[in-house]
Amino acid sequence: MTRHETDKSADRSISASEGEADLHGGARVRWWAVTARGRRAENEDTWAASPPLFLVADGMGGYAAGAEASRIAVETVVAEAQPGATPDAAGLGARIRLAHERVVERSLSLGRTMGSTLTGTALTALPGEDGFWSWLVFNVGDSRAYACSAGTVRQVSVDHSVVQELMAAGHLEAAGAASHPQRHVVTRALGTQSPHEPDFWAWPAAAGDRLLLCSDGLLLVGEEQAVVADVLVAVHPEEVLLRLLQPVATTARDNVTVVVVELLGRVAAMDDEATAPRAAVDA
Ligand code: MG
Repeated sequence: MTRHETDKSADRSISASEGEADLHGGARVRWWAVTARGRRAENEDTWAASPPLFLVADGMGGYAAGAEASRIAVETVVAEAQPGATPDAAGLGARIRLAHERVVERSLSLGRTMGSTLTGTALTALPGEDGFWSWLVFNVGDSRAYACSAGTVRQVSVDHSVVQELMAAGHLEAAGAASHPQRHVVTRALGTQSPHEPDFWAWPAAAGDRLLLCSDGLLLVGEEQAVVADVLVAVHPEEVLLRLLQPVATTARDNVTVVVVELLGRVAAMDDEATAPRAAVDA
């Protein structure tokens, strides 16, 4: 697999990078990532691009503890990947469980409460069907995954949060969620007393599909669905992200991290009818 990555950091408050890599079977994947510290002393979000795996984690615990929790979570899931192996839900579930245990160990050794959300996606090749790929998305907590296929944007992940539970039970309208006093309370997380099991979603991928992962700080940038739609349909997602995040890079009340992943078709045979992607169907 060949890979290149560019760090476009202009200053310490906001950092942008992009990269692309070959997947086996002739497909390619491209990604863009922007993270902004906001007015927090430290950026407690961690992201990773380790194709075919991409992750965003939002640490909790304040200052260094939150940053360390999200870093442990992301590094554990990336480091435990088997080289060349296609990720699946069982393998990712085991790695996420291990990440939870490592954050718990660190929390006990420091005597500090810490935890992390974790949202990610893995592009998985379908066995025996060279050239066909699936998106596998997983989530613990309230970071989010959105998908864009043929211009249609939808939220994939369902938050593990008090606010989401209240909305699901009909006790809260979506309009009241952003100002609810418990809007930051998650009901699942890694490294805490809360459950840490991920939810998974999978569906067939098509060339040109994009996936967006974000920490909850994106809610501070603007109406989230509109922001996500702007980014996911943009020719240059990182330009839109920088335009949206630059004004809040030093003022937002939370860290903001966004990773956009795009599946490109086969490099060598784009006009080969046999390589046409399957039509997307609902998972
Ligand atoms: Mg956050």
